[in-house]
Amino acid sequence: MKKLSVQDYNFILKILYGLALCLAALALKRQIAFYNSALLTIAQPLNVTEVRRVALTFDDGPHPVYTEQLLDGLKDRGVVATFFVTGEHAELHPDIIKRMQDEGHLIGNHTYSHIQLTKSNREKFKQELVKTNEILQEITGDEVLYVRPPYGAWDKKLETELNMFPILWSIDPLDWCKSNASCIAQAVLKKVGENDIILMHDYYKSSVEASLMVVDELQKQGYEFVTVDKLLFD
Ligand SMILES: [Zn+2]
Repeated sequence: MKKLSVQDYNFILKILYGLALCLAALALKRQIAFYNSALLTIAQPLNVTEVRRVALTFDDGPHPVYTEQLLDGLKDRGVVATFFVTGEHAELHPDIIKRMQDEGHLIGNHTYSHIQLTKSNREKFKQELVKTNEILQEITGDEVLYVRPPYGAWDKKLETELNMFPILWSIDPLDWCKSNASCIAQAVLKKVGENDIILMHDYYKSSVEASLMVVDELQKQGYEFVTVDKLLFD
């Protein structure tokens, strides 16, 4: 057998070196794949548990019959909402305001007499907000931080003057002018998405029925209902 030269040894060493590199690369690739699958296993439950949140808001109440019906329905479904009540109606039905608070709903201010802010009535508008805050605070013991200005008319300076924050809406099914609950529910469901604030009125039977239809459908789709403060600031 021919004796191996130095060049032959070098050649064999190079091949062995190359093979070692290949094996190391393969091992590294397997290791990376393992870490990736481990990361995926960790990340997966996060994706699954990440729920879409939405807020139901009700204006103009409380109504002696329909608001109670709504509260019953929300309670059955384990859902909380936000109620922007007028001082006038809160004064008439303090027991319903107390029930809202006891059942975990958020209560906001919708002025005393449903007054619309204009250029000429700023002082009266402000007085109505203060008066309504006092009425609500008397019933619940809590400071009122949120306001839904009727018709969305607002003056930003009032936020610092009253230490209140305005909450508008992103979905308005115009429930107050429709009497068919399914139509109202469909108007919401067609548009609704994550983090939407739905505007409803607990002053009408059809709105209350529509709201519960919306809850049933969105719960099926995996939505969670939260109060507006949670939706905006948590
Ligand atoms: Zn209103």
